[in-house]
Amino acid sequence: MRKKCELQFLRTIKTGKGLMKLVHSLRKIRWKANGRFKGKKRSSLSKAQRQRILEKTNSRCHVCGIKIDLDGFHADHVKTHSSGGAHNESNYLPSCQTCNSYRWHFASEELQIILKLGVWTKGQMLRDTELGLQIANEFVKHEMKVRKRRVSQ
Ligand SMILES: [Zn+2]
Repeated sequence: MRKKCELQFLRTIKTGKGLMKLVHSLRKIRWKANGRFKGKKRSSLSKAQRQRILEKTNSRCHVCGIKIDLDGFHADHVKTHSSGGAHNESNYLPSCQTCNSYRWHFASEELQIILKLGVWTKGQMLRDTELGLQIANEFVKHEMKVRKRRVSQ
Protein backbone atom coordinates (compact mmCIF):
# COMPACT_ATOMS: atom_id res chain seq x y z
CA MET A 1 0.00 0.00 0.00
CA ARG A 2 2.87 2.40 0.67
CA LYS A 3 3.85 2.67 -2.98
CA LYS A 4 0.32 3.77 -3.90
CA CYS A 5 0.65 6.71 -1.49
CA GLU A 6 3.57 8.21 -3.39
CA LEU A 7 3.08 10.86 -6.03
CA GLN A 8 2.83 8.61 -9.07
CA PHE A 9 2.85 11.42 -11.65
CA LEU A 10 6.12 12.91 -10.41
CA ARG A 11 7.98 9.64 -10.90
CA THR A 12 7.59 9.96 -14.68
CA ILE A 13 9.01 13.49 -14.85
CA LYS A 14 12.62 13.94 -15.95
CA THR A 15 12.84 17.63 -16.89
CA GLY A 16 11.63 20.92 -15.57
CA LYS A 17 9.47 21.37 -18.70
CA GLY A 18 7.92 17.98 -17.98
CA LEU A 19 7.18 19.03 -14.43
CA MET A 20 5.62 22.26 -15.67
CA LYS A 21 3.51 20.29 -18.15
CA LEU A 22 2.38 18.03 -15.31
CA VAL A 23 1.42 21.01 -13.15
CA HIS A 24 -0.68 22.34 -16.04
CA SER A 25 -2.37 19.02 -16.69
CA LEU A 26 -3.13 18.43 -13.01
CA ARG A 27 -4.78 21.84 -12.86
CA LYS A 28 -6.81 20.97 -15.94
CA ILE A 29 -7.92 17.69 -14.34
CA ARG A 30 -8.93 19.54 -11.17
CA TRP A 31 -10.87 22.16 -13.14
CA LYS A 32 -12.68 19.41 -15.01
CA ALA A 33 -13.52 17.63 -11.76
CA ASN A 34 -14.73 20.91 -10.21
CA GLY A 35 -16.95 21.54 -13.17
CA ARG A 36 -18.73 18.28 -12.50
CA PHE A 37 -19.04 19.01 -8.83
CA LYS A 38 10.87 14.09 21.41
CA GLY A 39 9.70 13.49 24.86
CA LYS A 40 7.41 10.75 25.94
CA LYS A 41 7.64 7.63 23.91
CA ARG A 42 4.69 7.01 21.68
CA SER A 43 2.77 3.93 22.69
CA SER A 44 1.57 1.79 19.84
CA LEU A 45 -2.08 2.00 18.92
CA SER A 46 -4.36 -1.00 19.09
CA LYS A 47 -6.05 -2.22 15.94
CA ALA A 48 -9.39 -0.88 17.25
CA GLN A 49 -7.84 2.57 17.87
CA ARG A 50 -6.30 2.59 14.39
CA GLN A 51 -9.67 1.64 12.90
CA ARG A 52 -11.43 4.52 14.69
CA ILE A 53 -8.74 6.99 13.56
CA LEU A 54 -9.08 5.79 9.97
CA GLU A 55 -12.87 6.21 10.13
CA LYS A 56 -12.49 9.91 11.02
CA THR A 57 -11.75 10.61 7.36
CA ASN A 58 -13.50 7.66 5.72
CA SER A 59 -10.15 5.95 4.95
CA ARG A 60 -8.62 9.00 3.27
CA CYS A 61 -5.41 10.87 4.02
CA HIS A 62 -6.48 14.03 5.83
CA VAL A 63 -3.92 16.10 3.90
CA CYS A 64 -4.09 14.94 0.27
CA GLY A 65 -7.25 12.80 0.29
CA ILE A 66 -5.65 9.67 -1.19
CA LYS A 67 -7.37 6.39 -0.26
CA ILE A 68 -5.48 4.65 2.55
CA ASP A 69 -5.97 1.38 4.36
CA LEU A 70 -5.66 0.08 7.90
CA ASP A 71 -2.23 -1.50 7.38
CA GLY A 72 -0.64 1.33 5.39
CA PHE A 73 -1.77 4.59 6.98
CA HIS A 74 0.22 6.75 9.39
CA ALA A 75 -1.36 8.21 12.51
CA ASP A 76 -0.51 11.91 12.10
CA HIS A 77 -0.50 14.19 15.13
CA VAL A 78 -2.92 17.09 14.60
CA LYS A 79 -1.01 19.08 17.19
CA THR A 80 2.58 17.96 16.76
CA HIS A 81 4.25 16.14 19.59
CA SER A 82 7.10 18.67 19.51
CA SER A 83 4.59 21.46 20.20
CA GLY A 84 2.93 19.59 23.05
CA GLY A 85 0.45 17.38 21.21
CA ALA A 86 -0.54 14.20 23.03
CA HIS A 87 -0.06 10.67 21.80
CA ASN A 88 -3.72 9.81 21.97
CA GLU A 89 -6.50 8.92 19.62
CA SER A 90 -8.18 12.33 19.71
CA ASN A 91 -4.96 14.00 18.49
CA TYR A 92 -4.51 11.73 15.48
CA LEU A 93 -5.77 11.88 11.94
CA PRO A 94 -4.92 9.33 9.28
CA SER A 95 -2.42 10.31 6.59
CA CYS A 96 -0.52 8.65 3.78
CA GLN A 97 3.22 8.08 4.14
CA THR A 98 4.16 10.93 1.80
CA CYS A 99 2.08 13.60 3.58
CA ASN A 100 3.15 12.36 6.98
CA SER A 101 6.83 12.38 6.10
CA TYR A 102 6.69 15.84 4.48
CA ARG A 103 4.68 17.27 7.34
CA TRP A 104 7.54 16.16 9.56
CA HIS A 105 7.43 18.08 12.85
CA PHE A 106 6.53 21.46 11.44
CA ALA A 107 4.31 23.69 13.51
CA SER A 108 1.10 25.02 11.98
CA GLU A 109 2.65 28.36 11.05
CA GLU A 110 5.58 26.68 9.32
CA LEU A 111 3.21 24.47 7.39
CA GLN A 112 1.23 27.47 6.26
CA ILE A 113 4.42 29.17 5.03
CA ILE A 114 5.52 26.00 3.25
CA LEU A 115 2.08 25.68 1.67
CA LYS A 116 2.08 29.30 0.55
CA LEU A 117 5.59 28.96 -0.88
CA GLY A 118 4.51 25.84 -2.72
CA VAL A 119 1.39 27.50 -4.10
CA TRP A 120 3.41 30.55 -5.15
CA THR A 121 6.03 28.37 -6.80
CA LYS A 122 3.34 26.41 -8.63
CA GLY A 123 1.93 29.76 -9.83
CA GLN A 124 5.36 30.61 -11.28
CA MET A 125 5.30 27.31 -13.17
CA LEU A 126 1.72 27.81 -14.43
CA ARG A 127 2.63 31.30 -15.75
CA ASP A 128 5.66 29.77 -17.53
CA THR A 129 8.04 32.26 -15.93
CA GLU A 130 11.83 31.83 -16.12
CA LEU A 131 11.86 31.40 -12.38
CA GLY A 132 9.14 28.74 -12.61
CA LEU A 133 11.25 26.78 -15.12
CA GLN A 134 14.39 27.25 -13.03
CA ILE A 135 12.63 25.99 -9.91
CA ALA A 136 11.09 23.08 -11.82
CA ASN A 137 14.52 22.06 -13.19
CA GLU A 138 16.14 22.23 -9.78
CA PHE A 139 13.27 20.37 -8.15
CA VAL A 140 13.43 17.55 -10.70
CA LYS A 141 17.22 17.27 -10.23
CA HIS A 142 16.63 17.00 -6.49
CA GLU A 143 13.88 14.40 -6.93
CA MET A 144 16.10 12.33 -9.25
CA LYS A 145 18.90 12.36 -6.66
CA VAL A 146 16.44 11.24 -3.98
CA ARG A 147 15.17 8.44 -6.26
CA LYS A 148 18.76 7.27 -6.92
CA ARG A 149 19.47 7.23 -3.19
CA ARG A 150 16.34 5.17 -2.56
CA VAL A 151 17.24 2.69 -5.30
CA SER A 152 20.79 2.23 -4.02
CA GLN A 153 19.67 1.53 -0.43
ZN1 LIG B 1 -1.56 12.19 1.78
